[in-house]
Amino acid sequence: MPDTARQSIPLARPVVGPEEEERVLEVLRSGRLSLGPLLEEFELAFAARLRARHASAVSSGTAGLHLALRAVGVSDGDEVITSPFSFVASANVAVYERARPVFADIDPVTLCLDPGAAAAAVTGRTAALMPVHVFGYPADVVAFERLGLPIVEDACEALGAVFADGVPVGGRGHPAVFGFYANKQLTTGEGGMVAMADAGMKRRIDSERNQGRAPDMDWLDHDRLGFNYRLSDIACALGLAQLERLDEMLAGRARVADLYRDALRGIDGLELPCPDAGGNRRGWFVFVVQLPRSLDRDGVVRGLGEFGIPSKPYFPAVHLMSYYREHFGHREGEFPVCEEVAARSIALPFFPQMSEGQVEQVAQSVHEVLRRPRS
Ligand SMILES: *Cc1c(COP(=O)(O)O)cnc(C)c1O
Repeated sequence: MPDTARQSIPLARPVVGPEEEERVLEVLRSGRLSLGPLLEEFELAFAARLRARHASAVSSGTAGLHLALRAVGVSDGDEVITSPFSFVASANVAVYERARPVFADIDPVTLCLDPGAAAAAVTGRTAALMPVHVFGYPADVVAFERLGLPIVEDACEALGAVFADGVPVGGRGHPAVFGFYANKQLTTGEGGMVAMADAGMKRRIDSERNQGRAPDMDWLDHDRLGFNYRLSDIACALGLAQLERLDEMLAGRARVADLYRDALRGIDGLELPCPDAGGNRRGWFVFVVQLPRSLDRDGVVRGLGEFGIPSKPYFPAVHLMSYYREHFGHREGEFPVCEEVAARSIALPFFPQMSEGQVEQVAQSVHEVLRRPRS
């Protein structure tokens, strides 16, 4: 019988302590809640951490992806090649610009966009490539660079990841976008950051996040179309405090991943996240397992739920979502690797301060549910 008296384990939980509280309070007391001094301070600290030349803070990862696509020149009627195994935002941002997201299948090991499949999808209208560092594992950006097209990296799950050549994800120079929603490696509640090498690109993004206003212009004079994608100083304060404990939080996630690897050993057909290979280093974000092929995934999610263990299908394939079926005519069978992985994948509870006992509790429930007779 499930023991409901045991403490419930959340799917994700941010690490927020007195340092965050103190810094946020300082902003509240200062009276400068937005467009204050912490915006630049957060950007500079974040860029330094990634060895990126510039960074622009924005209101969400999605907002950052949108501005980055505009900044590399994507517009009406263009095509943007991206992964169908991602959060829906990476495809949506192309649609915002009336461009077409063109999906290509994923690598069965890393689960990131397959460079060969992406190359095969290039047409005369391809205006950009958007590889996604899925679950914090570095996509093969060097292979995408060989295609000679503008690249926007969706690094929203990959803070702390490092490419095989030692460059931190976000530090290659292409615009690379991070997200700071509450379940990410670093959180500002909601928020995001675009890291990039080009100073002109930063000026454009800074202007477009602020209604198209140039930095030296008087308020209400706008020389281009913009958005309100600003990040408040309250959020930047939170981000600065989080940046100081980032190494500790990343180490916490890596520790929990190791515990899971041990605790989930020996289940026939269960696939764990791929280990680091070829010098690439994952920045741990979630712990997603692929269930044995014969199992009903939704049944497993329900079964874990009966033990008080939250889990969720992650990711569902983007091209098979209702909006993409209806507007772009996508159907099952187009991207077989993605579809198989998406049908088998669930995210387990995962956060930096997860205890050994909690990992054990999740793992025992997984063993238990997967041992049940299969229908
Ligand atoms: C989190 C995430 C985003 C951005 O999400 P926001 O909620 O807009 O910050 C984009 N792409 C991927 C792959 C993500 O995981």
